[in-house]
Amino acid sequence: MDPDRVLEGLDPEQLEAARALRGPVCILAGAGTGKTRAITHRIAHAVAAGVVAEQQVLAVTFTTRAAGEMRGRLRALGAPRVQARTFHSAAVRQLSYFWPQAIGGPMPSLIESKIQEVARAAHACGLQLDRTGLRDLAGEIEWSKSTQVRPFDYEKSIAKAGRTAPMPVHDVARAYEAYEERCRDRNLLDFESMLELTAAMIAEHPQIADRVRDQYRYFVVDEFQDVNPLQKLLLDAWLGDRDDVCVVGDPNQTIYSFAGATPGYLTGFSAAYPHSTVVRLVRDYRSTPQVVRVANGALKHARGAAAEHRLELLAQRPDGPDPLYTEYDDEPAEATSVARKIAALIDAGTPAREIAVLFRTNAQSAAYEQALADAGVAYTVRGATRFFERPEIRQAVHTLRGARQGAGSDPLVQTVRDILAPLGLTPEPPEGRQARERWESLAALAQLAEDVAAARPGATMDDFAEELDARVATEHAPEYEGVTLASLHSAKGLEWDAVFLVGLTEGLMPIVFAESAEQVEEERRLFYVGVTRAREHLSLSWALSRSPGGRKGRKPSRFLDGLRPASPSLAGRDNRRQAKVVRCRICGNTLTEAAERKLARCGGCPADYDEELLERLKAWRRETAEEQKVPAYVIFTDATLQAIAEHVP
Ligand code: ATP
Ligand code: MG
Repeated sequence: MDPDRVLEGLDPEQLEAARALRGPVCILAGAGTGKTRAITHRIAHAVAAGVVAEQQVLAVTFTTRAAGEMRGRLRALGAPRVQARTFHSAAVRQLSYFWPQAIGGPMPSLIESKIQEVARAAHACGLQLDRTGLRDLAGEIEWSKSTQVRPFDYEKSIAKAGRTAPMPVHDVARAYEAYEERCRDRNLLDFESMLELTAAMIAEHPQIADRVRDQYRYFVVDEFQDVNPLQKLLLDAWLGDRDDVCVVGDPNQTIYSFAGATPGYLTGFSAAYPHSTVVRLVRDYRSTPQVVRVANGALKHARGAAAEHRLELLAQRPDGPDPLYTEYDDEPAEATSVARKIAALIDAGTPAREIAVLFRTNAQSAAYEQALADAGVAYTVRGATRFFERPEIRQAVHTLRGARQGAGSDPLVQTVRDILAPLGLTPEPPEGRQARERWESLAALAQLAEDVAAARPGATMDDFAEELDARVATEHAPEYEGVTLASLHSAKGLEWDAVFLVGLTEGLMPIVFAESAEQVEEERRLFYVGVTRAREHLSLSWALSRSPGGRKGRKPSRFLDGLRPASPSLAGRDNRRQAKVVRCRICGNTLTEAAERKLARCGGCPADYDEELLERLKAWRRETAEEQKVPAYVIFTDATLQAIAEHVP
């Protein structure tokens, strides 16, 4: 592809990043500003310009799904052979390839259930732990391994890190040691060990290091704010003494510091590489001004390191619907209403795969699964992780390969459906979580057949098998057409037309075990990540009690303060009464009367009004008035507009 064509559709700052073909590059920018877009174009540009061969690029990102999306974008830009992977998948690949040479003997397998191994280790140490205790212990082990802390060092290290152990430190250290021993004895590796072994292999075997470094010469790391010391170690091992690395991130989206990640590598990048090109992006291309306002407002009270890098977003897209703030009596009522709103969006033309329900804990998923099933809406729960390793998929892929020759003249989609039917692909999803998950996986394969047939009319089973092989090789899982139900942690980097952030109460958001100020800050960033996933429709909701008739003891999340209408009783209940609430045009904060008279923006908003903003302000006033069926003067008084006008040069 023509190198210049690859650069089409980038803004000046993105262009600067994409044109910096060599050497260290750092893109530091807020959500939705096109960081991922800039780096995919940069890679394609470097390939098209002949600076690097496709196979020599290693692009690392955070989730399998994000890696899949990156590969999709690269394919469209004429660079289909670029490796876009997670740290884990890149490490596993290298480790298994070099295992015979570096270590020999059977390669250990990946731990199936970490929590189970942790439970057994705890038991062996005589520790009686409930589910929460086990989760905390597993978390401590993960943090220790990700930050390279050994069992005997644990006590000293947490004191140094200012971290509070969830149980006696001595118990954690003992259980951690027992866990490591168990894994060794059973020839099992967890994700952290995979990374560590790969880095050690490169460090200790110069020949292997040469081969790995010869293969990969051009590195790009997305979501760099969430890199942990272990991942950094591996990246450094890959790099050796070279510096062709481009890192991208947003300090305000650090959401894995509980597990050892630190934005310090991102914010300290230019100090580590003084000759690096540093690019900042501020234009938000993803979300409507209404969503951007909530996003900026969500960070208004942020503290800590990330707050020093406040990256105020500037909305680029045309106006969209106002975000919805809705309070419910109980969780089932919230789920039912959200499901109804989703059904209405789908009826109005939004594809189901463009809608997501995001929650803080996986336990919240069940109510939404039920409500969506009741509303007849297709949904998908699991992320795309290790799709091709699921037993039902292995079996299905096998059956579909071996059927390759025998396939008759039926259209591809029908043939695939016929083959998958006996394996469990019924016309309607079955009841029960396990059966449903199995069904969903098979439906994703059927969906893939539809995609192949749509892209290549007349496609045969051979074409399908070829696509399947390519995807198995790159771990590029197909997606099942349905509403996404996902935890906030797994949603980073992704975007949907409509996002429903649910369960926004104290105890869930921030989560109850976020006790220290830093932990609450991380929860706030998680909230920001959630808000910024929405392109157009954003719904924020919460329920005052868990079950119908229960005590309404829950309080709306503190992160909603200043965003939602002032009085909780107004929220989503009586739109006409909301009309009297005037919000800052920039961040959505509720305005005091004085502020309203003065400038119609709250004291905290830094942006200056300009002509365009004033026009938008007027349009907003008109639309809001229309929507709420009240005269426009209830929204803004003429005096307000007069005051604003006086401030516009
Ligand atoms: P996040 O922090 O959430 O990972 P990001 O900064 O990586 O966000 P992208 O996912 O790259 O943002 O881009 C967000 C959306 O904006 C995408 O749909 C992308 O295609 C679009 N976009 C980015 N840059 C531009 C541009 N210059 N012109 C038009 N659309 C753009
Ligand atoms: Mg991104």
